[in-house]
Amino acid sequence: MPFKDGYVLSTVLFIAISVASICLTSISCSPGGESAKADTVFFNGVIYTVDDAFSVAEAAAIKDGKFIAVGGDEEILALAGPQTRRIDLGGKAVVPGLVDAHAHMMLYSLGLDRIDAMGAPGAAAVAEMVAARATMIPAGEWITGWGWDSNDWEGMEFPTRGMLDEAAPENPVSLFKQDGHAAWVNSEALRIAGIDRNTPDPPGGTIIRDSRGNATGMLIDTAMILVNSNIPEAPFEKQKELLTKAVQKWLAVGLVGIHDMGDGPEEAALVKALIDDGAFPFRIYFSYDNTLDNLDELLAAGTEEYGDGRLVIRSIKAFIDGSLGSHSAALLEPFEGRPGDTGLQITSRDELTDLAERCLNAGFQLETHACGDRGARIILDAYEEALSRVPTPDHRFRIEHAQMVDADDIPRFAQLGVIPSMQPTHCTSDNPWVIELVGAERAAGLYAWRSMLDAGSYIPCGSDFPVESINPMLGIYAAITRQHEDGTPEGGYNPEQRMTREEVLRGFTIWAAKAAFQEDRLGSIEPGKRADLVVLDRDIMKVPPLEIPGTKVLMTIFEGDVVYNSEPGVTEEQ
Ligand SMILES: [Zn+2]
Repeated sequence: MPFKDGYVLSTVLFIAISVASICLTSISCSPGGESAKADTVFFNGVIYTVDDAFSVAEAAAIKDGKFIAVGGDEEILALAGPQTRRIDLGGKAVVPGLVDAHAHMMLYSLGLDRIDAMGAPGAAAVAEMVAARATMIPAGEWITGWGWDSNDWEGMEFPTRGMLDEAAPENPVSLFKQDGHAAWVNSEALRIAGIDRNTPDPPGGTIIRDSRGNATGMLIDTAMILVNSNIPEAPFEKQKELLTKAVQKWLAVGLVGIHDMGDGPEEAALVKALIDDGAFPFRIYFSYDNTLDNLDELLAAGTEEYGDGRLVIRSIKAFIDGSLGSHSAALLEPFEGRPGDTGLQITSRDELTDLAERCLNAGFQLETHACGDRGARIILDAYEEALSRVPTPDHRFRIEHAQMVDADDIPRFAQLGVIPSMQPTHCTSDNPWVIELVGAERAAGLYAWRSMLDAGSYIPCGSDFPVESINPMLGIYAAITRQHEDGTPEGGYNPEQRMTREEVLRGFTIWAAKAAFQEDRLGSIEPGKRADLVVLDRDIMKVPPLEIPGTKVLMTIFEGDVVYNSEPGVTEEQ
């Protein structure tokens, strides 16, 4: 959709002047400057603009996909002409379009076609799902899935291949753990991958073995690639269909964009194809995976903006370590009860420094995953060194997750201008088992949002979906309570690290925009910005916290168009 970037629509007067000059060449202008009127006005609402002052307005006017005025009902309704669409908000709360600052576009969308083992109460329940799928497909066809989490199961033991062999003897099976750092596979999958007792662990990964040295069917981190590289990709048209379905689900929870973590040129091409089809009311802030063979070529090709900003490619995603839950986070001190086990480091400091330097030289942002405190420190050191070689004032390099950061390293984020990109729901999902992994003392310092904010950082918030739910309301709730949805534990996990409602709303809007260099056009309801907003069925800034997870999105508006409408509650006039 073309738009006129040449002028800033900040006052009505200015619009009138602009329109007057456009009218000289336009045949669609009616006498009297009718086209100066808004395309749409929303009024009678409680609009959290998320501007600097966090001001609240009653109404907003939209023209050509952007906000042209925000303020009181009377003033805004005056901008409505006979052709203007008027939407009465009926006193409902409105927030800017939400953005998930850390998500996995393809894992989620392709996952819509996979076995969903999220919340499965045990390995047997997952095996049952696999057995059911096996009866529906021909022998030899892959069965894939994700979402199981042995940390929630009795004994917390990793399952083994035997159960899957029984469920699907003639189909290869590969099932991702919820955190994406382990895969549970069957014997047929191991056979296809050529994994036997003589196969060495790949760098950065582990093939879990029994006492006789045979693979148990559990592959950790890079070892998953040995199996998963054999799974055929879904055809392009199927991928388009699934991504389209995914976008509808995202819009329905109030998301208008995501920061996609680590994909490749094929995935970028997929998004471009949907944009070209004219059916993509969504924004992907895209990062290339740093392990792509042609990374140098991609860096040399430079950053890219496609489809009026619906796809922006200006970031590289890297990993320093794995996850706490899979014992693969890089820690300064060993895991509890595992002397000498300080986790896995996937990338060396020198490699990361070199990558950071290449990113700076090419004008790309770098987003590096770190769950452990050693991981975060190595990244900060590497970024610092690269920045000393290639001084770049506005680099906005990020650390993804930053779940465990040594107290000495927290102020270094703001000092170096490194952004902690964090996912509030990880705190509540991990807390029940994380104490066992790192001990109570270290667990108390995890997910240190308050410390980060007080040290001068801002936190773009995300979910890491499909690791967690796509619903940002759950993230908002977790951030302000550090409690499960049933209100436990009382007071929350380390409540001194909570965010305020205002902070977490910034985290899912303007701070997410800022972490993507987009705060000039996205992230708040202010004149000149893209007209993205979400109408909610309750006021999340005021209702008791326990009511936040149940919040329903009534409408999602993307650049002035209603792209999701749940119908009741909001009346539209005209
Ligand atoms: Zn992730």
